[in-house]
Amino acid sequence: MNVPFLDLKAQYQRIKEEIDQAISEVVSDQHFILGPKVEALEEAIADYSSVRYGIGVASGSDALTLSLMAVDIGAGDEVITTPFTFFATAGSISKVGAVPVFVDIDPRTYNLDPTRIQERITPQTKAIIPVHLFGQSADMTPIKELARDNNLRIIEDAAQAIGSDYIKDSVPPQRVGSIGDVGCFSFYPSKNLGGFGDGGMVTTNDEDLARKLKLLRVHGATAKYHYQCIGINSRLDALQAAILLVKFRYLEEWTGKRRENAIYYDQLFEEMPVQALGIETPTVQYNNRHIYNQYVIRVPQRNKLMKFLAQEGIGTDVYYPLPLHLQECYRDLRYEEGDFPNAEKAARETLALPIYPELTKNQQEYVVAKIGEFYHSFIA
Ligand SMILES: *Cc1c(COP(=O)(O)O)cnc(C)c1O
Repeated sequence: MNVPFLDLKAQYQRIKEEIDQAISEVVSDQHFILGPKVEALEEAIADYSSVRYGIGVASGSDALTLSLMAVDIGAGDEVITTPFTFFATAGSISKVGAVPVFVDIDPRTYNLDPTRIQERITPQTKAIIPVHLFGQSADMTPIKELARDNNLRIIEDAAQAIGSDYIKDSVPPQRVGSIGDVGCFSFYPSKNLGGFGDGGMVTTNDEDLARKLKLLRVHGATAKYHYQCIGINSRLDALQAAILLVKFRYLEEWTGKRRENAIYYDQLFEEMPVQALGIETPTVQYNNRHIYNQYVIRVPQRNKLMKFLAQEGIGTDVYYPLPLHLQECYRDLRYEEGDFPNAEKAARETLALPIYPELTKNQQEYVVAKIGEFYHSFIA
């Protein structure tokens, strides 16, 4: 049996007619940058994320960079974030001239450990970027308290978490992207809402920030050839917006399928002696609505398992094999191996399994059976 890690072709085949129609409309129109399609998507995503404003930009990475620029973070500033994330989270901080300050993760959720943040706050600290990794919200209540007490901005990296809710205690669910000052989303093809190329969005409830973000994405221009501030060129294409508007109609259904697939994996693993084998399935904190951009398990002999599964026709991936504090480009920050043991351990032990909506029960059974087979042969 063949189980690809991701099957975007299957998704496209199902909605081909609508997508092709949307593309041909834009092509006939010849209006390619921003415009009504982008505005419609901004409204849809803002509404879906429980905020007043959505600002379409060229990528999730740019969403982060523009957000940092919008809250005036630059040279001399420090921004606290996790070392266990996609590079753009930290890269955007460096790109605006600030310094990323890493804090270790909670080993169960892989999200920023809020109990370790206070000790890293200095007079230079200006913001925290929690990442809602794999599709589950970071633990936002303590992060918000720290931000309030220390006058810090919160920029949510929600690139993997569109439609995810933070649900702690009896507090009403909070949608990611609406909890901090701004939320950053990505429409990279492998995200739950993925375009046919790069794309991103910033969400906010703050009218001034929304206005500033709209200026910053067009070089700071208030009118043609008149610049109020120095921005960058980072606009969302009409083609991407048109495609994303079609896909958005299916997002809830697809997210539901991902969540069902996750439950089914959980059940299948429960039938195995996972504890004896040292396998750990994903932990959902509180009553969070996890949207499973990735279903990540922790396993012994990760690299050998990955190779074995590949031989059996099963695609898997590793997010992320090297934590950011150990990256070559951050050597001058003088972090060392052992600084963030939870992140380092996660980088060695975690494996993402196929979880996309089109995945069948048969395929999932095959994946888990093969994992069982690997450990039996390995132990025997
Ligand atoms: C995908 C991703 C980004 C960057 O998004 P792009 O659209 O690829 O630039 C940022 N942060 C995280 C956590 C991501 O997964």
